[in-house]
Amino acid sequence: MPQAEIGIIGGSGLYAMPGLDRVKEVRVKTPFGAPSDAYLCGVLEGRKVAFLARHARGHRILPSELNFRANIHGFKQLGVERIVSISAVGSLKEEHKPLDFVIPEQFFDRTRHRVDTFFGAGVVAHIAFADPICGELAAVIEAACKKAGVNGKRGGTYLCMEGPQFSTRAESNVYRSLGTDVIGMTNLQEAKLAREAELCYVTVAMVTDYDCWHPHHDSVTVDQILAVLTKNAENAAKVVRETVAAMPRERNCKCQSVLAHAILTDPAKIPAATRKKLKLILGKYVKTSAR
Ligand SMILES: [Zn+2]
Repeated sequence: MPQAEIGIIGGSGLYAMPGLDRVKEVRVKTPFGAPSDAYLCGVLEGRKVAFLARHARGHRILPSELNFRANIHGFKQLGVERIVSISAVGSLKEEHKPLDFVIPEQFFDRTRHRVDTFFGAGVVAHIAFADPICGELAAVIEAACKKAGVNGKRGGTYLCMEGPQFSTRAESNVYRSLGTDVIGMTNLQEAKLAREAELCYVTVAMVTDYDCWHPHHDSVTVDQILAVLTKNAENAAKVVRETVAAMPRERNCKCQSVLAHAILTDPAKIPAATRKKLKLILGKYVKTSAR
């Protein structure tokens, strides 16, 4: 029996899942090292949910230090099929105001120091990534925002930057000229790895501020920022609850079989150690050694 079916990743401001019942802390070991923290497994709206604080409880891990592979592999080990990723972002457009939730459908990569694939070490696979977000899951979340009374907007591009420093004004203006919508530091690698692991993945980008391009950026006080963070976390908890309550039991999307035509390596040539390491990801398609 899987320990969880729906995974929630909590970002800045969301370090626990209000309403999660019968919570058990589960530490998961993975072939890629340790996930950010223990998974909090419990029941929400009658469904089995696993929650992971992306930066660990206490916010101790930089975006560039995150072990994205371990985090996603851990969810897969628990039996999770769908991941809802909650993330604080800056807005690159006037129309995306603080307290709005954006459900982006595209990503743009501006990271430099990240490991973002399960493959390599003798196995080559190229997954399709033209549509990096699960449309089925995004539709459930969009409806959940409406039910929760949150201004949720589907579409747009999440620009993933390296950090940990925020953008320069020149960078922020270039990103705006590219037509991107929100800026954050973590979600692209999660989306890639979830897709490789055949999990559905959607980002819920909670707008906290206007990055640094906005002429009134500097007049925002710390109190105002903290008030927005707190309100966003409250709203995120509501949206997650409505999302879980409305989640269809079965998946009808293509996420669950993306590897069927993505593995290029001759199975006979995949080293035994790699096969073993990737058993959870590849086992459906590549038999582990007969020995
Ligand atoms: Zn899907």
